[in-house]
Amino acid sequence: MHPFALSRADDPTKAIAAHAQDPQLAFIAGGTDLIGLMKDRAQLPERLLDINGLPDMARIEALPDGGLRIGALARMSDVAAHPDVRRGFPVIAEGLLFAASGQLRNMASMGGNIMQRTRCAYFRDEDDRPCNKRRPGSGCAALHGLNRNHAIFGWSDACVATNPSDVAVALAALDATVVVRGPAGERAIPFADFHRLPGDTPERDNVLGRGDLIVSIDVPACAEGRASHYLKIRDRQSYEFALVSAAAAVATDGRRIRSVRLALGGVAHKPWRLHAAEAALREVSLDDSHCLKGAIATSFTEARPLAHNAFKVWQSPRPSRTPARSPTMPSKSSWPSALHCARCRQREHAHECHRTTDVTLRWAAQGDRRRALHGGYSARRRDARRDRFQHHRERPDGVDRDFHRRKGAGRAGGVHPSKHAAHESDAKALEPPSSARAVVSAASG
Ligand code: SF4
Repeated sequence: MHPFALSRADDPTKAIAAHAQDPQLAFIAGGTDLIGLMKDRAQLPERLLDINGLPDMARIEALPDGGLRIGALARMSDVAAHPDVRRGFPVIAEGLLFAASGQLRNMASMGGNIMQRTRCAYFRDEDDRPCNKRRPGSGCAALHGLNRNHAIFGWSDACVATNPSDVAVALAALDATVVVRGPAGERAIPFADFHRLPGDTPERDNVLGRGDLIVSIDVPACAEGRASHYLKIRDRQSYEFALVSAAAAVATDGRRIRSVRLALGGVAHKPWRLHAAEAALREVSLDDSHCLKGAIATSFTEARPLAHNAFKVWQSPRPSRTPARSPTMPSKSSWPSALHCARCRQREHAHECHRTTDVTLRWAAQGDRRRALHGGYSARRRDARRDRFQHHRERPDGVDRDFHRRKGAGRAGGVHPSKHAAHESDAKALEPPSSARAVVSAASG
């Protein structure tokens, strides 16, 4: 572990001044991403300034106009369980509850969540593969390597990574604002402008500079907020980052769409708003799934899939299915040594699961969507296989009931679901409105 000095801040002005003057200092709140980055040697600050003691930054409050102010230090599970969030903006609660695990959500702050860095395996590889985000100018190993989880929109030859945050997709759809305090005072950054596309400087994920401290995230009141829904497609049912996710917020006149906000996650370096689809969806009937899909496809004409991620656009009717790169399998020597198995997250290449990963990639390259997405297993075979590999079962984070039945709920080493402020089953209980569900289902095929 990289050695570092830790100090605590109790005054925002002093914290901002210290951060502005010292390039080796980083703010830390929950630390759920930063500590992992330091272990992977992707980020090596020499000094950490703990900002958890800063006053008034963990509040969640309703604004008089019907909007919401979420303090940057509010914990994910507290925001997800807050009644004003669940009532007025269920897409935020769902986006949070489908992210990470119960323990992580109890620790991670909202400000840290929207600041988290890509999960590109080359970027996180401690063996220092070519990665422009990690070492500017070294190249991008993912461009011609394993890029199943990477971008289809807005990428450059310098970087094809995606943004991993779930709640950022919901906040982008709702036109939230990030309130930042810096050496020059306070400013509000529209969420669409907060994250950057990679361009020639992929090492910069967002527009924040030295001395900038996120104070809150403001969500404006909107007619669409109440009828909103978040859908996440991933390799396993929980504790996994999105392959593709969609956030939709819809206002209707009867069964006809009056206005809609739509954003995708897992497809670009930033949450990707579908403005063309939003315009095309106006006046479309919620019962006309063909029109819904056709309208959403208007936003996919600019998609540029890579060698292994064309499946991310297969589900819409119009986009090109031709990968931008030759669909050849990268040689195994180009694999990042720290690549986690998609199913069990173990690292060793000798591990049995990697045989499956290997062949899954070939299916993806050959255009076999069913096999690439579902691992080529029928439900019966998949269940039998899951039973064989016990370690594939979910972590004891309050999601996998079976785990608790086997281990004994509440025993040492396991965490009883009721111990968490909110957990994933809560998101399923939110019962999304049919309007938002229809739009988001059309977006995901
Ligand atoms: Fe690095 Fe970006 Fe390329 Fe991944 S996609 S290897 S983060 S430059």
